[in-house]
Amino acid sequence: MTLQKLRRWLGFPLEDRYRVHIEQDIVQSSLRPGIFSALLILAFQAVMMVLSLLRKGGPFASLRRQGYWWLYVTLFSVTLLFLLLIVFLMRRRRPCLDTFFLPLQTFYTAFLCLWGTCVTLLDQFGGNSLSVFTYVTLSAAALTVLQPWQSALIFTGNCLFLNLLLPYTPAGPDNFYSNAVNSCFVTLGAFFISLWFYRSKVSSRYAKIIIEQQNADIRSMNVQLDQMAHTDELTGMKNRRSLERLPLDDRWNEMPPVSAMMVDIDFFKQFNDTYGHLAGDECLQRIAAVIRQFMEGREGVAVRFGGEEFFICLFSCSRAQVLEAGETLRAAVERCGYPRGDLPQGCITVSIGAATTEAENAPRLEDLLSRADKALYEAKHEGRNCVAAYI
Ligand code: GH3
Ligand code: MG
Ligand code: MG
Repeated sequence: MTLQKLRRWLGFPLEDRYRVHIEQDIVQSSLRPGIFSALLILAFQAVMMVLSLLRKGGPFASLRRQGYWWLYVTLFSVTLLFLLLIVFLMRRRRPCLDTFFLPLQTFYTAFLCLWGTCVTLLDQFGGNSLSVFTYVTLSAAALTVLQPWQSALIFTGNCLFLNLLLPYTPAGPDNFYSNAVNSCFVTLGAFFISLWFYRSKVSSRYAKIIIEQQNADIRSMNVQLDQMAHTDELTGMKNRRSLERLPLDDRWNEMPPVSAMMVDIDFFKQFNDTYGHLAGDECLQRIAAVIRQFMEGREGVAVRFGGEEFFICLFSCSRAQVLEAGETLRAAVERCGYPRGDLPQGCITVSIGAATTEAENAPRLEDLLSRADKALYEAKHEGRNCVAAYI
C-alpha cells in the first residue's frame, strides 16, 4: 500500500489546506464531550475521596490506602486544572482554542492512562485485576480524538510501563504471561477504537467541507448565470428579461408615479447598411453609455429592450417630468455627436416615446410598455429626433 493510499484510508485529506478546517471542526465537536467527561471524572474522584475519608481508619490507615488517596487527589487536581484551562481557552479568541485544545486534551489523556496504570499497580497488592487499566484505556480511546501516532504512542507506552512494573508486584511474576497478553489485547483494542474514531471524524468533516465548498461553487455559478441571463452582452446593460423583476422592485409600488420611455435609434437600419454592423454595434454601445450617464442620480431602471431600442423606467416621475427627462436624453444623444454622414443632422439621433401611470394606484408593466411604444410610434410619425407623450 502506498503512503497516499494509507493516508486516504486513515481519512486524512490529501490536501493540506483542509487540515486546519478539519482540526477546528474536531475542536468544536470535542469541546462538549471533553468538558462533560472531565466533570464526570471530577465527581467520581470526589465521591472516592469522601468514601476514603469515611472508611474506618481513614485514607492513611495503610500505605496502600495512602497510595489510592493521593491518586484520587492527583486526578481530581489535574482534571480541575484541565477544566480551568479549557474555560480559559474558551474565553480567549478562537485561534487560541483551536491551537491549544487538542494538544491539551492529548496530554490529559496520556495522564489519565498513566493514572489508570498506577491504580492498577496498586490493585495488584490486593488481588490481580487489570480492570482499571482496561476501562481507563478503552474510555480514553473512545472519548478523545487522538491522531493515530498519538494513540500508538500513548497506549503502547502505557502498556509497556504497566508490564515493566507488574513483575515487581506480589502476584506479578506468577501472572506475568496472562497480564501481558490481556494488557496487550486491551492496548491493541484501544488503538483500533481510537484509529476508527479518528478516521470517521476526519473523513466525515472532510466530506462536509467538500460539500460546503461545492455548494458555495454552485451558489456563485448560479449568481454568475443569473447575471449573464439578465445582462445584454453587447452593451453591458440589463436586458429585456430583467424587466420581469421590475414589478418586484420595492420602488415600483412605493415611489409613484412610475413613468417610462421607449428610446429608439433613428434610421438605424440605414446606418448599418452604410457603415456596417460592427460600426452599428459600436454606436449601440455609445448610446448605452449616454443612457447610463443619464440615469446617474435618477431612481429608475434602464434596459436594452431589443435591437436598437432601450426601455427606461423612472420612479417618482410625473408626466411633465418624464417629458422633460426625455428631452434631456434626446439632447444628450445629439450632443454626444456620434457621426453619420447619411443624415442631414450629421449625427446619431433617437426618438423617444414617454408614458406614465400617474392616475393609477398599482402600475402594470404591460400598460407602461404598450403606452410608451405607442408614444414612440407618434414620435417617429412626427419626424423623429423628438419626444412624444402617450395621450
Ligand atoms: P426607425 O427610425 O423607424 O426606427 O428605423 P430603423 O432603421 O432604426 O428601424 P428598423 O426597425 O427598420 O431597423 C432596426 C435595425 O436595427 C435593424 C437591424 O439591422 C439593427 N439592429 C438590431 N440589433 C442590432 C445589433 O445588435 N447590432 C447592429 N449593428 N444592428 C442591430
Ligand atoms: Mg426599432
Ligand atoms: Mg430605429
